[in-house]
Amino acid sequence: MNVNQSAPPVPPYGQPQPVYPGYHQSSYGGQPGSTAPPNTYGAYNGPVPGYQQTPPPGVSRAPPSSGVPPTSTAQVPCGQGGYGQFGQGDVQNGPSSTVQMQRLPGSQPFGSAPLAPVVSQPTVLQPYGPPPTSAQVTAQLAGMQISGSVIQAPPPSGLGYGPPTSLASASGSFPNSGLYGSCSQGQAPPLSQAQGHSGAQPPQRSAPQQASSFTTQASGGPRMPSMTGPLLPGQSFGGPPLNQPNHVSSPPSQALHPGTQMAGPPGPPPPMHSSQQQGYQLQQNGSFGPTRGPQPNYGSPYPGAPAFGSQPGPPQPLPPKRLDPDAIPSPQLNELPPQQKTRHRIDPDAIPSPIQVIEDDRNNRGSEPFVTGVRGQVPPLVTTNFLVKDQGNASPRYIRCTSYNIPCTSDMAKQAQVPLAAVIKPLARLPPEEASPYVVDHGESGPLRCNRCKAYMCPFMQFVEGGRRFQCCFCSCINDVPPQYFQHLDHTGKRVDAYDRPELSLGSYEFLATVDYCKNNKFPSPPAFIFMIDVSYNAIRSGLVRLLCEELKSLLDFLPREGGAEESAIRVGFVTYNKVLHFYNVKSSLAQPQMMVVSDVADMFVPLLDGFLVNVNESRAVIISLLDQIPEMFADTRETETVFAPVIQAGMEALKAAECAGKLFIFHTSLPIAEAPGKLKNRDDRKLINTDKEKTLFQPQTGTYQALAKECVAQGCCVDLFLFPNQYVDVATLSVVPQLTGGSVYKYACFQVENDQERFMSDLRRDVEKVIGFDAVMRVRTSTGIRAVDFFGAFYMSNTTDVELAGLDGEKTVTVEFKHDDRLNEESGALLQCALLYTSCAGQRRLRIHNLALNCCTQLADLYRNCETDTLINYMAKFAYRGVLSSPVKTVRDTLITQCAQILACYRKNCASPSSAGQLILPECMKLLPVYLNCVLKSDVLQPGAEVTTDDRAYVRQLVTSMDVAETNVFFYPRLLPLTKSPIESTTEPPAIRASEERLSNGDIYLLENGLNLFIWVGAGVQQGVVQSLFSVSSFSQITSGLSILPVLDNPLSKKVRGLIDSLRAQRSRYMKLIVVKQEDKLEMLFKHFLVEDKSLSGGASYVDFLCHMHKEIRQLLS
Ligand SMILES: [Zn+2]
Repeated sequence: MNVNQSAPPVPPYGQPQPVYPGYHQSSYGGQPGSTAPPNTYGAYNGPVPGYQQTPPPGVSRAPPSSGVPPTSTAQVPCGQGGYGQFGQGDVQNGPSSTVQMQRLPGSQPFGSAPLAPVVSQPTVLQPYGPPPTSAQVTAQLAGMQISGSVIQAPPPSGLGYGPPTSLASASGSFPNSGLYGSCSQGQAPPLSQAQGHSGAQPPQRSAPQQASSFTTQASGGPRMPSMTGPLLPGQSFGGPPLNQPNHVSSPPSQALHPGTQMAGPPGPPPPMHSSQQQGYQLQQNGSFGPTRGPQPNYGSPYPGAPAFGSQPGPPQPLPPKRLDPDAIPSPQLNELPPQQKTRHRIDPDAIPSPIQVIEDDRNNRGSEPFVTGVRGQVPPLVTTNFLVKDQGNASPRYIRCTSYNIPCTSDMAKQAQVPLAAVIKPLARLPPEEASPYVVDHGESGPLRCNRCKAYMCPFMQFVEGGRRFQCCFCSCINDVPPQYFQHLDHTGKRVDAYDRPELSLGSYEFLATVDYCKNNKFPSPPAFIFMIDVSYNAIRSGLVRLLCEELKSLLDFLPREGGAEESAIRVGFVTYNKVLHFYNVKSSLAQPQMMVVSDVADMFVPLLDGFLVNVNESRAVIISLLDQIPEMFADTRETETVFAPVIQAGMEALKAAECAGKLFIFHTSLPIAEAPGKLKNRDDRKLINTDKEKTLFQPQTGTYQALAKECVAQGCCVDLFLFPNQYVDVATLSVVPQLTGGSVYKYACFQVENDQERFMSDLRRDVEKVIGFDAVMRVRTSTGIRAVDFFGAFYMSNTTDVELAGLDGEKTVTVEFKHDDRLNEESGALLQCALLYTSCAGQRRLRIHNLALNCCTQLADLYRNCETDTLINYMAKFAYRGVLSSPVKTVRDTLITQCAQILACYRKNCASPSSAGQLILPECMKLLPVYLNCVLKSDVLQPGAEVTTDDRAYVRQLVTSMDVAETNVFFYPRLLPLTKSPIESTTEPPAIRASEERLSNGDIYLLENGLNLFIWVGAGVQQGVVQSLFSVSSFSQITSGLSILPVLDNPLSKKVRGLIDSLRAQRSRYMKLIVVKQEDKLEMLFKHFLVEDKSLSGGASYVDFLCHMHKEIRQLLS
């Protein structure tokens, strides 16, 4: 498609580049093939001889990081090394893992047992310590000043990763809860459906799926037989139906590996373990975190301590846990029957815990502001609350990188396989304590830029010749300083006005754009919002139209405003449609609105200009009248068919006629089957899952929408789509335009006013009110040596460098991948500059600039020490989710696994000291990579359960594409909070626990959220008083399963829980609908889907199994 012919790029952004296949950026894998731009960069990147490069002003280098080689000999006593570090702000990801040398005296014996059968491992040479392996690691880590995590896994022969076996049998009973909103066929509300499903047997779809998980690994022929059997009878859960917390099954995985490591019947008493193997205990104490024993140096008990996980019995009291009621309740050890614990080959408490890492980071980095003056600093995790002080680099709220220290050469980068990417959220909202970027006005001359590469003035530009010229920090070009911008330099070479100018001292700021930056060299008009409402039978009958019209009356007073403006500059217009379109004239001078019908949908035009887009205040009376009349006008409609493309076309033409940018809010209910452009057919076919044709389910079924999207982008027309489907509507096709125009898609399956009103209204309100930029172009410039080669997100590209966004709001991110095209220099580091040109909601044309300086390294260890796993996962998920457009899902999954194994193997080979192959050694900053990656692999897009519809998958795929790092983090690894563990008076959020069924106690109530869904799980053994306080019924059996609203009761527990739900909802960009789930109720299957450390019904591996598999992959790479 000759995409680049229209939509002339905005002048300052340079020449159009060769065609870039916008939506189809499918080239999975980001192979250079389709995405690597031709050599258009020559001009930018050529180093300019002449001026010596000196470190940019204002950038202090981070402490040399490459020095500390991972020497293994450092015999720093672990406790000391570890705890010395702990508490220092500069430790990555928390104190961690200097693996625990010191453990509770009593805990050792229990430690390792279930682990490796590992007889094969006498190799551990470490001189000290009872737990040899840990010692070894410790030594190594201590030497490195970081810590790595070691996991001892059994040898490959023992435990390979088994296929999911008979899980299939369970999958069918997954009730359709309308989770993502799907309600497969009927209109039945989610609840009733779920109930109806009871124990229905599974469609047995999962068989093929199993095959695909990890199959690459001819996973040990011999092992197969033993794994494919059904659950071992004896293993069924928890033998004794006592009131054990794990009422339900323990991970089936156990059962799959009969005999192997378990060394014995389930339930051997602790002592047995110790005897079984000394020397391999290691990590029993939770998650590689700091030791939790009663150690010196370690003042207050560390929350979460319980970890010494595996002791089965009560015999070992856990002091920290006891002492601190708020401690992270890791598994209720004391409540666990012994069998449960010993069945693990690897103690789940011995493998890296997301909860612990998050908690450690909060403790270590949450109290101090993050000051951005130092190059290459890794920011606190997204789960940590912290303030940011901009001292020359963009806040992590705007840009997060997979690594803050990038390899100097492409060879090194290839060896490590760590993707170099930045997740950029140019218009991110900031907390009230942080100032929005300053707006700099350079008057008619506009912002100062490098003549050659067009980079904008920033703190890294180097002024020379007494301030008369400056050297570009991106391309080294020497530029004259215009007279009006001249300033003297101080003795350090810094301009004396540096701190008076945001563009010379801050990482983020804005420039007012001159007319040169505007379309057609004309300043833009204020944008417009057009509300386009489906009034076909379904929309009327569900009550949607009436609800929406009522809500719009008040909503129109909350259109986005700029700064202190009294009223919004945004104009509004209204359209209703079914098979034809109805435009409304709501001009203020009219007594009544006038309707104009356009039935020629094949050749859409806008029947009126004057009176269509109006100011809300001026036309208020007419608008109110219209909104009152719409539900009545169509109350008796029999029209069930709708059109869709003509609706978008009409909105876009209206904006074009008004010469402005804007946003369409489309409220749509059904597959557009009426005769018109963009007409769709129902092509849903679940039989395609796990075939080579599965990708077609994610691809649009016609090119109409891409062509339309291109026109929209050229007009600055952003499309937000609210879907209310009762059945398949082909989200993959309908979401093309929103996706390419920077819009959002919302989906409310089987919409019913009484059930879904709150969620829809909340989402709509937020969507209408949010600040948004229009008609935007984003360009990421880099210093010589690397360049942006690939982009992920909701936008359009007609060349290889300019990200075009018809609209961009404060929640959308663009993920950018970088590749080397030359050698980088440790001294000068690497720079990124993201420039976003956009029209504000008041119609002002602006440039927002974000700058970020990164370190460069010649030692791989420095790369691994400065990575951010959450960002890595964000990138990998987006990469994979785009991959499914062009490759079989299995291939996509295998690619992720291979890449992860390569990353970890490279670390093992180059950064860790030699050690037994039986040890899994993970870089400290990436110790959560396996668990998180497994969550991505198990997600609905890559491994759907039987209950997940094609539309759900397309919807989620599309959502994830624009998620920021915090959103992907909680989406893939949900937050599980015990509600009844901590004292009721405690005002802080309860500490999270790991997302595994084993962590649930039947005497408690838990809340789970992932940014889209919110559950409350009620254990069957919860005290009556608690049930009464929260649900206002007298017993567990009387709680309504599937309840979506908690009764408003005047007692501390009720207030606390409802308050918590409110606060969680406020943190997320979309309203999370609550579903109350009772233990052992059918709906519980739905909830368990989110217990991501467990084996999933669709065949996804448990965390433990995946880790073992990963270990095996790594060993293969190393051997
Ligand atoms: Zn330059």
